[in-house]
Amino acid sequence: MNKAHISSIGTALIVGGGIGGMATAISLAERGVSVDLIDLDPEWRVYGAGITITGPTLRAYKHLGLLEDIKRQGAITIKTRLFRYDGTHMLDLEEPPLEEGVPGNGGIMRPVLHRIMQARLRTLPVDVRLGLTVTSLVNRDGGVDVRFSDDSTNRYDLVVGADSVYSGVREIAFPHMAPAQSTGQGCWRVSIRKPPTLNMTEFYLGHANPCGITICAPDMVYMWLLTPHIERESFMSDEELFATLKGLLADYGGHIGWIRDNMTRDDWVNYRPLNAALQPKDWFNGQIVLVGDSVHATTPHLASGAGMAVESGIVLAEELARADDVAIALKSYQERRFERCRDVIETSVAVGKLQLEHGDPNIHAHMLQDALKRLNEPY
Ligand SMILES: Cc1cc2nc3c(=O)[nH]c(=O)nc-3n(C[C@H](O)[C@H](O)[C@H](O)COP(=O)(O)OP(=O)(O)OC[C@H]3O[C@@H](n4cnc5c(N)ncnc54)[C@H](O)[C@@H]3O)c2cc1C
Repeated sequence: MNKAHISSIGTALIVGGGIGGMATAISLAERGVSVDLIDLDPEWRVYGAGITITGPTLRAYKHLGLLEDIKRQGAITIKTRLFRYDGTHMLDLEEPPLEEGVPGNGGIMRPVLHRIMQARLRTLPVDVRLGLTVTSLVNRDGGVDVRFSDDSTNRYDLVVGADSVYSGVREIAFPHMAPAQSTGQGCWRVSIRKPPTLNMTEFYLGHANPCGITICAPDMVYMWLLTPHIERESFMSDEELFATLKGLLADYGGHIGWIRDNMTRDDWVNYRPLNAALQPKDWFNGQIVLVGDSVHATTPHLASGAGMAVESGIVLAEELARADDVAIALKSYQERRFERCRDVIETSVAVGKLQLEHGDPNIHAHMLQDALKRLNEPY
């Protein structure tokens, strides 16, 4: 696909090389911008979980030219099957292709997805520097003066904060915003070999702790489980995490029961408290702008946080290519993204609240179905 050149800026710094930062870097560099990307992590790692890639997220990855790699190295499914926690089937969410060649749903291991995105970056004029962050950002004369944590300095036409939920860029340049708030839930995940008879994405509802499984490769899945957040869980040893998760799965039937009975200490297990925030406008300050979890952090209930981050990177580049004036482009970016991100965050938080209140699983199922339909609309 031939993408329109960006003439309003020549250089950009992306702070944060996760999903949103890499999508933004690819989108800007493809349109002729010279990009520096920095990440705080000297090894540019990502943890060993899987990730659900919904149809709209796959559509965004198609735009980045990465869909075929994801199909090849991840897994594609055509529907999500909803069960009661004991394994009784409730309903199927049909997930037809969104457009020619774009499947309805899928999954991939996060390290594999990162490698795919990193490989694409290496083919573009993007300079990656690791173990680095920013300590000062000053808008001046239509550009941004940047000081880095190694005390070096540089000047860019645009700085993009893609440094996630605890964003340092947000803290430096967006005093009207606040840190994301805990939603009261936490997410347990285990990456494990695929149960032999599993062939779709599965959700298990009607229990105080809902859970689900996503296939991420021909032989790998990850299972997630949501519980009320308990502070102590953030500090458990690997041994305790494993035993606690196994115990939490005691009531489950179906493939969740299989995972409980077959998980071993070699499988990757993790617990993370959930935070969410739709940050108030403006999402830009002069020539500094935010994308991804730094400005629209959501919970995993719609499995759409990564999709929103990728879409935001694409839309930012599209709007910069459309307008000659950077301020107009940043405003258009914000206006195109705000309502869609608001829908994802508010629906996800509402589903979480329903779970905490032990709400009706049918209401839960229909909230998911309706929201996922809305997300199929063009972004
Ligand atoms: C438990 C859980 C499960 C999830 N499951 C899904 C799912 O199935 N599907 C889905 O679409 N989404 C899911 N999400 C959401 C998704 O992971 C995020 O929305 C997505 O990763 C956001 O991308 P990002 O680029 O904003 O942040 P990240 O991907 O977190 O990347 C941020 C990067 O910034 C770097 N960084 C951090 N601070 C600094 C700093 N000060 N300076 C420089 N660099 C910095 C980090 O090292 C990292 O590389 C889930 C989230 C959680 C918590």
